[in-house]
Amino acid sequence: MRSAPENSGRCLPPCSACGRETELFQLPGSKERDCFECSADVATTILLAAEIDAASKSGEDTGGLRAEGLQIGTRHLARAQSQ
Ligand SMILES: [Zn+2]
Repeated sequence: MRSAPENSGRCLPPCSACGRETELFQLPGSKERDCFECSADVATTILLAAEIDAASKSGEDTGGLRAEGLQIGTRHLARAQSQ
């Protein structure tokens, strides 16, 4: 019979996105707690999504905004996978 290893000495919960144990922030309206960088990426992504939505409704080109969103998403993912 084995018991689960205890995480003694770990007082910080890991970031829900990248798993780093650091100071976490909770965005308004989000249940997840992320580190500063992930929170910033998530906040920017939300803003970009709103901008893309507004731009496409008014018939503007959203290519630049989409490229920016993709870049942030890729960076966010890379950080999550670097753990
Ligand atoms: Zn993080």
